[in-house]
Formats: sequence, C-alpha cells, structure tokens
Amino acid sequence: MTKHNLIIIGGGPGGYVAAIRAAQLGLDVACIELDKALGGTCLRVGCIPSKALLESSEQFSEIKGDLSSHGIVVDGVHLDLGAMLKNKDRVVRALTGGIDSLFKKNKITRYLGHGRITAPGKVTVSGSEGETELTADKIIIATGSVPATLPGIELDGDRIGTSTEALAYGEVPGHLVVIGAGAIGLEMATVWRRLGASVTILEYLDRILPGMDSAIATEALKIFKKQGLNFQLGCKVTGVKTDGKGCTVDIDGADSIHCDRVLVAVGRKPNTAELGLESVGIETDKRGFVPVDEHLATSAEGIYAVGDVIGGAMLAHKAEEEGVACVEGIVNGYGHVNYNTIPAIVYTAPEIASVGQTENELTEAGIAYRKGEFPFIANGRARAIGHTDGRVKILADKKTDRILGAHIIGPHAGDLITEAAVAMEFGASSEDLARCCHAHPTLAEAVKEASLAVDGRALHM
Ligand code: FAD
Repeated sequence: MTKHNLIIIGGGPGGYVAAIRAAQLGLDVACIELDKALGGTCLRVGCIPSKALLESSEQFSEIKGDLSSHGIVVDGVHLDLGAMLKNKDRVVRALTGGIDSLFKKNKITRYLGHGRITAPGKVTVSGSEGETELTADKIIIATGSVPATLPGIELDGDRIGTSTEALAYGEVPGHLVVIGAGAIGLEMATVWRRLGASVTILEYLDRILPGMDSAIATEALKIFKKQGLNFQLGCKVTGVKTDGKGCTVDIDGADSIHCDRVLVAVGRKPNTAELGLESVGIETDKRGFVPVDEHLATSAEGIYAVGDVIGGAMLAHKAEEEGVACVEGIVNGYGHVNYNTIPAIVYTAPEIASVGQTENELTEAGIAYRKGEFPFIANGRARAIGHTDGRVKILADKKTDRILGAHIIGPHAGDLITEAAVAMEFGASSEDLARCCHAHPTLAEAVKEASLAVDGRALHM
C-alpha cells in the first residue's frame, strides 16, 4: 500500500493542473490516468486537435480561394489530408509530452491505469501490470466526460461517430451530417466544409449555439450559411443507420437524409464508470454529475471533484480553475472560482466569444442594463486584414455601469473576450474600459468603441 498526501483520478485539465498546483504547495501527489498520454479529452481528442485542424483548414481555404483581394493569386493548391492529420497528431504529442515533463519537474507520481475508490482514502489502480493499492488523506475526482448520444443512435466508432472520429476521418466525406449545432458540432462542420465536404447540420432547437447571445447566434447562422453550411433547425432526429458504406438519418416529419458519415455532437456526459462512488456513499445527480459544495467537496469526507464530471460549463479552463481552487482550498483553507467570468469561445471563422450574462438572461432576471455595440466593419485593423464580419457587444448595469456581459462575433473574438473578462473580474464599469487607451490599429479598439457606445459616445460610428 503506497501512501501519498493527495490522489487525483484523471489527468485532464482539471486533474493535471490540480496535480501541479498541489506539488507547488508541497504535497506528495499521485495522478492516476488510464490513457498513456496525459492531458485528457482536451489535449488528446478535444480542444487542441480540433484547433490544429481548424487552423490548417482555414489556411487551406484562404489560400485556395480568398486571397485575390490581397492581390495574391495562387494556383495548384491541393489538399494532403494525411499530412494535415499528421501535423495535428504532432501538435498533440508535443503538448501531452510537455505535461509528462511538468509532472517530472514537479515530482508528481504518475500511475497508468484505471483508478477506483474502494474506501475513504483508498484507491486501487488497475493497470497492465496488475493492481496497486494507494492511500491518501485527500482524493480529487477529475474523470471528465465522454460524448453523449441520442436514443435511436448507436455509435459504431466509424461512420456514425463523435468528435473523436471526426478529428481523424481518413478521407473528406462527400456528405457529412452533423447532429447538434453547439460549439463542437459547428467547429467540426467548419473543418470538413473547408476541406470540401458538403455538410448538413441538424439541430433540435430553432436556433444554433444554445446558451450564447441570441442576436449573435443569428448573425453567426447567416455567416455560416454563406460559407456553404446547410442547416435544418427545429428538427428531431429519430434514428441513424449505416450499411458500412453510407448512412441514413431519419427525421421526425421530414425526409430521411442519405450521407457518408454522421457526427453526433449533442453534448457530453459525466464519466463516473467503475469509479467506486458507491463505496464512499457518493450519489450522482439525476444527470450523472458528481455534486459538490462551494469548496468542490463531495458528500464524502476528504473527497473532492473538479471539471466536467461536476457539470457546469464543460470547458478546459473552467476545469483548470477548479483544479487550482480545490487544491488551494485543501492546503490553504481558501480557493475560489468566479463562474461569472469564465469565457466561452467557438473557434469558427469568425470566432464567437462570450463572458458573463446575455441579454436574455438579464431580461429574465429583471436586471436593467445598457448596451453598446460596435461593428468590425468600422474598425481599421479589421478592414486591413479583410475580416469585417461581426461586432462587439458590451452589456452594463443601467444604474452602476458595471459590466455584466460581453459578446463578440468577429476576428480573434476568442482573444478579445479576455479583455472584458479581466475587466469584469476587477468589477470594471463600461466607462473604465472606454477610458483605457487601446493601441491603434487593433481589433481591440472595437471593444473600446463598444464600451463608449454603452453611453452613446462611440467615436467611429
Ligand atoms: P477530461 O479532459 O475529460 O479528462 C479526464 C481524464 O480522466 C481522461 O484523460 C480520462 O482518460 C481519465 N479518466 C477517466 N476515468 C478514469 C479512471 N477511473 N481512472 C483513471 N483515469 C480516468 N474546452 C475548451 O475550453 N475549449 C475548447 O476549445 C474545447 N474544445 C473541445 C473540442 C472537442 C472536440 C471536445 C470533445 C471538447 C472540447 N472542449 C473544449 C472541452 C474540454 O475538452 C473539456 O471541458 C475538458 O477536457 C475537461 O477537463 P477534465 O479534466 O474535467 O476532463
């Protein structure tokens, strides 16, 4: 029986970041991960490989078609999909290897295998070399999530797959059907559309990007349609079949669709399989998430949980924040995550980013607000780079002017949103943001102008 101060089950962004922070704070830390590569969904089959493919496919589509306005004519562009996928794998390998190095540097003990809690303070690791018994004062569950599916859809890991398969198709599908118009569905749809697939996106709701600002989602829909993505909104998929060569998607009250591949992107569900929660009396909620209190503590003494497995925004940076807060709470007695300033980003072109509350949420909560908007078409840098679609929207409390939300669709929205998130973290008003000097010519000037627009004082509109 090997003893550590802290055992972390899961080596994704929640788990590995918690491990590093705990080691920095002087704990003897063990991290159990069943995959050979550390980094979890995010590094192996999520954030990083999808962004590598988004970048490669965007370069391909720009070079192939959109550079004539810059006075650049390029002939003979063709796709080498194998090389593109290898590049993505290289990026993933470099980053997962980087976490191995960080573990070594921080003297974190890594166990390869499946971790199962057997009693308070006790975990068994089942690996290829048998079972290892570990004990610790504290345990953190960071086992993440796995793709969800719908009734009537059996994933076959090939033609009918999830984002994991869509990150590695060996050929460009002639016709790809994506079920679900959330961030993951839209990102993968964008990749394969740019590489030449015909793409149909089916969504149960009558809008895309549920949870994001509805006006911005409507603007995004128009832009995506111009990019050649086909949408069927308000449609209920009742089943998907494959004969091994193609697929048929059945839709309630509409014609079936025949296609080459189906990507099911209807969300993710918590991963608590064979985790031994019952051995310590932890009951999951009705959606399968592990309930925690404000200190990320579960109902079992000394056992905590962070990341996708506890629900909320299923995002890597949210998992990381929780990993740090949880460990700091254990060691120092305090740790905190400000859930209101966690940005969410969709890495399509244009990018879509949001932090804080939407107009719908503010209206529902009865909070009076003022709104400032500024379009990228009026921003010098956006003009110079030729990406003028979209705008910045800042929402501020009507009485105090405190920023309550920011929503951006446009070039580099994912980077620009950080300014609003930092401002909100410091409790800034729209006036504060408007009075900050922004370098010219930058896309960030659109954030300043939108902040000025809250008070009707935008200078370039
Ligand atoms: P995970 O990353 O899922 O890690 C959990 C780890 O625990 C896994 O490695 C798993 O193997 C391991 N594990 C599970 N059970 C056990 C066990 N019993 N014993 C040992 N090990 C176990 N988020 C963003 O913020 N930005 C993005 O751009 C983004 N893009 C995404 C794109 C795609 C295609 C997908 C699928 C997800 C994306 N996400 C993105 C979401 C992000 O990947 C997750 O929110 C994040 O990985 C959650 O981190 P986690 O540590 O909670 O769990």
